[in-house]
Amino acid sequence: MAETLFHCDDVLWRRFEMICRERDETPGAVLRDLVRLEVQRCERRKARSAEGIDERLLVRLRLLVAEALAVSESWGDLQRALEERALKFTPAGGGLVLTDLATGETLAKSSQVGPPYMALVRRFGTGFPGHPQPGIAAQALARPCPLAPARRTGFPVRPDRRPPMTQTLALNDTRSIPQLGFGLWQVPAATTAETTATALKLGYRLVDGAAIYGNEEGQGEGIRRSGLPREQVFVTTKVWNSEQGFDRTLHAAEASLKRLGLAHVDLLLIHWPCPRKDLYLDSWRALIRLREEGRATSIGVSNFQEPQLTRIIGETGITPVLNQVEINPRLQQPALRAFHAKHGIVTQSWTPLGQGKSFDAAPVQAAARRAGKSPAQVILRWHIQLGASVIPRSTREAGLKENLDLFDFALTEAEMAAIATLDEGQRCGPDPARFEMD
Ligand code: NAD
Repeated sequence: MAETLFHCDDVLWRRFEMICRERDETPGAVLRDLVRLEVQRCERRKARSAEGIDERLLVRLRLLVAEALAVSESWGDLQRALEERALKFTPAGGGLVLTDLATGETLAKSSQVGPPYMALVRRFGTGFPGHPQPGIAAQALARPCPLAPARRTGFPVRPDRRPPMTQTLALNDTRSIPQLGFGLWQVPAATTAETTATALKLGYRLVDGAAIYGNEEGQGEGIRRSGLPREQVFVTTKVWNSEQGFDRTLHAAEASLKRLGLAHVDLLLIHWPCPRKDLYLDSWRALIRLREEGRATSIGVSNFQEPQLTRIIGETGITPVLNQVEINPRLQQPALRAFHAKHGIVTQSWTPLGQGKSFDAAPVQAAARRAGKSPAQVILRWHIQLGASVIPRSTREAGLKENLDLFDFALTEAEMAAIATLDEGQRCGPDPARFEMD
């Protein structure tokens, strides 16, 4: 049994090393992407290991242990870093067990989160203090270690010192997108440059705009004002409904680039499918052309449902990298998210706070109290843990800061499950099957 688990782990870690080298990204960033993909794979297979342990839990544990490892230089460091993540390693029953500090529940044995443990053994050259089986350390030393090659290829041994808001998700076209960004809908044109520059200075790296928001000039100006190199900012814009069709979409994209003052956007989306217009396939073909011409690095859609996604993928063979859709606790869209996961499409949540309608809900309040966070932060963290990209909007500096402060806590499985019960299928925005406004 242990062999099977190790075999599975080796595959994961070999991919990890390879992708680090290919993408020239820090191990921490790559690790998170990999874990997301791994969670999706497990969800697809509904897999449970032969020992009856949920693989999704194992993958999350591996992430937590690997994160703790990344900031540890001694066993003492590791203990502290694990405790910050509400975990504890203790020698017991012939091995190490990983315990949930909050509940005292045993989560997994050390062998099941093996590679990070082994990497640590290799780094410190000894087994966990008090480990009753010294043989485990010797076995670990003989195995390939994920962090040792990183040293050889110049990757930091203590990876990912970058701010956590630059945490990325892998896109299906080999690019990546910051998981957290900010949105510009209803941000007044006159103050958009200031809001954008402020947000970027605070640490955001993804700006979500659209032609219809009427503030693309400010979006571009804010990026320039921030002083950040262009390649450090991920810029999204969207083609509006009245501009659907092949030629119109090409022209609309050029007009957006002109207003933004940019040579390319990182992500171009079709804003709404408008199924009755029936032009979204032509628009999608235009986006493919724009990507070939380098005017959009990645291309995706917004408010598409399964039939339209199936059609554009089937007709063109090109899968959107992302679908930006309304998601919040009252509208969780599990079937659409599962479809996305199956096709390697990132889910991006708009109106993620759901107009505050779930702020008072008991599971949100309970998690907020437990974690010492606001209801908005709990909900945004819920999106992050769903594996979605999320783009909240705030024009207040304090609000922008609050919405960035999501990476020093985690919702428990039980809290995630409790928030899942809030789904009522209730939209804040229009129904994409019927929305055709020009
Ligand atoms: P949101 O969920 O981000 O909520 C914004 C509202 O919540 C504002 O009133 C803001 O003041 C308030 N708020 C923000 N942070 C808060 C906090 N920490 N505590 C309490 N209140 C807080 O909603 P949104 O703007 O509708 O959506 C976010 C972004 O998604 C938009 O700006 C836009 O970029 C995008 N969007 C896309 C579509 C689409 O069709 N593709 C549709 C709507 C929105």
